[in-house]
Amino acid sequence: MPVTAVTGSASGIGAAVCKVLSDAGHQVIGIDRANAEVNADLSTPAGRDAAINEVLTQCDGKLDGLICCAGLGVTAPDSGLVVSVNYFGATSLVEGLQTALEKGEKPAILIIGSVAANQQLANQDAMVPFLLDNDEASAVKQANDSGMPHIAYSASKYAVTVFARKKAVEYGKKGIRINVVAPGAVETPLLNATLEDPRFGEATRNFVAPLGRAGSPEEIAQVIAFMQSDKASFIHGSVFFVDGGMDAMVRSVAF
Ligand code: NAD
Repeated sequence: MPVTAVTGSASGIGAAVCKVLSDAGHQVIGIDRANAEVNADLSTPAGRDAAINEVLTQCDGKLDGLICCAGLGVTAPDSGLVVSVNYFGATSLVEGLQTALEKGEKPAILIIGSVAANQQLANQDAMVPFLLDNDEASAVKQANDSGMPHIAYSASKYAVTVFARKKAVEYGKKGIRINVVAPGAVETPLLNATLEDPRFGEATRNFVAPLGRAGSPEEIAQVIAFMQSDKASFIHGSVFFVDGGMDAMVRSVAF
């Protein structure tokens, strides 16, 4: 039975991933702030260390899969938290669980990015170099100083995607696959909070995918289950858009 750790397991896409993987025969170790096998706060270094140690205990030091779904959207209490959870909440777990994954059976890592990573010039934001340098204090300060949660969100998703693609070279040699799934709008509490937000609601409602609707968490989870399975054994370092066509609509000449 494959053992897979899933962050953000208590809600939305992460909860759907847990269900699909459990149905497919995985032992799932969910990680979330509450209501999970591992209750931990991924916004702080201490919380991440606690999560890593508890996962290592529960998987007995050998892990077959890691899926990083935990994330905060633009309605988070502050922009620094968005950066801490969306970037460091994923990268710390990848690095902290790497040795356990090396011991796993056909191990694979999946990070949830976003179509937002390619919008709003996220790659040019000043916090990106801090993120890629693993300098959390400076990245959080930059995010809070600029006070634009949508930029913190898109920059954190851009940086975590770059992190995954850079790791693909090193991890491929260790036999660990790593990929990114980049969803568009998906019907979860995170999206609902954005739709109701006076700053971002209207723009979010008006940004409709070519397929004319938001996705369901299950539609994202099914792709993730495929990416983690042996059927995807040659997919490595890829970014999969699962977005109803949003990325193709906005960036048809970039791929
Ligand atoms: P959600 O709010 O339903 O789930 C997010 C989960 O992350 C929650 O269970 C929450 O408790 C957990 N989390 C947040 N902060 C945490 C912390 N400090 N420590 C531990 N856990 C924490 O949202 P969702 O839409 O399912 O989001 C899942 C992922 O998908 C996120 O990374 C999000 O950025 C990404 N995403 C979502 C959409 C969308 O439209 N819903 C689009 C693109 C990408």
